Amino acid sequence: MQSKPHTTYNKNRSKQAQSNSKVYRHRQQTTRTHHLDTRVFALGGLNEVGKNMYCIEHENELIIIDAGVKFAEDGLPGIDYVIPDYTYLVRNQKKIRGLFITHGHEDHIGGIPFLLQVVSVPFIYATPLAAAMIRRKLEEKRLTNQTTIVEIQSDSSIKTRFFNVGFFKTNHSIPESIGIVINTPNGRVVTTGDFKFDLTPVGDAADFQIMSFLGISGVTLLMSDSTNAEVPNFSISEKKVAMAVMEEFRKTDGRIIVATFASNVHRVQQIVEAGIKFNRKVLVLGRSMENTIQTARKLGYIKCPDRFFIKADQVNHFPDHEILILCTGSQGETLAALSRIAAGTHKYVSIKPGDTVVFSSSPIPGNAASINIVVNKLYRHGARVLTNSAFNNLHTSGHAGQEEQKLMLLLTKPKYFFPVHGEYRMLKIHAKSAEEVGIPEDHSFVLSNGDVIALRDGEAHFSHRIHVDDIYVDGNDISGLSTAVLRDRQILSEDGMVSVLVSMDSHSGQLLSRPIIISRGFIYMKDNIPMIREAEYLIQDELSQLIQTKTTFSEIKNTIRDKLSSYFYRKTKRNPIIIPVIMNKK
Ligand SMILES: [Zn+2]
Ligand SMILES: [Zn+2]
Repeated sequence: MQSKPHTTYNKNRSKQAQSNSKVYRHRQQTTRTHHLDTRVFALGGLNEVGKNMYCIEHENELIIIDAGVKFAEDGLPGIDYVIPDYTYLVRNQKKIRGLFITHGHEDHIGGIPFLLQVVSVPFIYATPLAAAMIRRKLEEKRLTNQTTIVEIQSDSSIKTRFFNVGFFKTNHSIPESIGIVINTPNGRVVTTGDFKFDLTPVGDAADFQIMSFLGISGVTLLMSDSTNAEVPNFSISEKKVAMAVMEEFRKTDGRIIVATFASNVHRVQQIVEAGIKFNRKVLVLGRSMENTIQTARKLGYIKCPDRFFIKADQVNHFPDHEILILCTGSQGETLAALSRIAAGTHKYVSIKPGDTVVFSSSPIPGNAASINIVVNKLYRHGARVLTNSAFNNLHTSGHAGQEEQKLMLLLTKPKYFFPVHGEYRMLKIHAKSAEEVGIPEDHSFVLSNGDVIALRDGEAHFSHRIHVDDIYVDGNDISGLSTAVLRDRQILSEDGMVSVLVSMDSHSGQLLSRPIIISRGFIYMKDNIPMIREAEYLIQDELSQLIQTKTTFSEIKNTIRDKLSSYFYRKTKRNPIIIPVIMNKK
């Protein structure tokens, strides 16, 4: 058995064509020798935008595509991230041959440090930019020794016993995004990764030829990005955005402060380049922005001589028209650089009349209120604020709209379709678009995380379901304990807690005093003394009988919980957390 995968790098063109054609021409060999299904499923990424993780399994081999996180929403107090449930991977540890990364966004690589803490992954395959970002994460968490990162190019190919894996370039908001082709004993699976079609991209062109060649030579199952399934248009080219950015710089005399997502490397690149063109010094604020720029410069994606970058304490040494500040905080995040500047609490930068502040990213739904708070503060200090400028009117998404999704389906011409990377309605609409371009409804799989598609001899069907969960991460702890802690926090925030103090003598089987109830966040005690007293007597009656029999402390605690929760629910329609505290005289 050959279990150690190897990569091939081909600098030379004819060789490259050779290696590509090997991957793409690879046909299903004999149909009768393989009696086992190939299984395809998601551990994350379905019915949500975030924590992407897809698995392909055949006999004793399993490969993983992407390992992302999802950022916690407001409803999850104190929780930083949500990650997939890795239990299946822990159980099938021995089968894992490698993790393939489509691109360097958090919803595709952010879970890697958590994954490596519980599962050993022999190889992580990623293009150089994504590899650099992963390396940085692993260094921070001291996990570098846990795996081997293998840098791939779009023309690399990786072979395991059952899988032959190749890649093709796509366009997205970050350089080096790739789609992945996985030839399995039961058919060919293609995943697009996050993509859009941009005919005049900022970076490399996408591999249109390979996508259409795949369509000619046969794709069994296509997994495609559904994020913008509801957007009817073809997305605007990054080149047009670049022109709009330049225009804004041409018109502006004072300082320019731009807030955007660090993850949109192409946008960051355009803004820095515009700054240099108009002879502005660049000040970068915010850790994620600093990291992105550092990595992108190292790999040559942002070309900017050192002398253009300045430190925060130098910002007042230059005239206003020579300053560009690039910062995080475009979503009004309280701790981000822009919010601190707006609040006047930033050590070096404060807003003054004449400043232009540009929000260069669309607000994520739900963030509008916090963005408005920041915008108001900026106005109050005299800034001109562009929330809906050319930057934004032309704000183009990194994801394919409906027409582009159809184009991908037409190029790759899959027999079966598995819409991924989207909430339920996005997946559903994407399947509808597929129907419009000729993929029958019963050949599309709109599924949930854990649902398994079985491939057999080029046919696909829904097979069964693996149990999966959302795991909440509080700090770095992924033990799942925080999932329980989170549930408690939710109950505490909604229904509060009640503590019951019982002092007893287990020897004589006597209560030493009436139980005492105290509560926090449940009811206003002073107004509810009669109810609390009644509850105390109720517990007293129950316990005085119980402790005369042969009983245990846990039975006493359970009795207190049962009696009180039904009593309080009857009285208040609330379910507070009930904490019995027993003091026993020996
Ligand atoms: Zn992405
Ligand atoms: Zn994504």
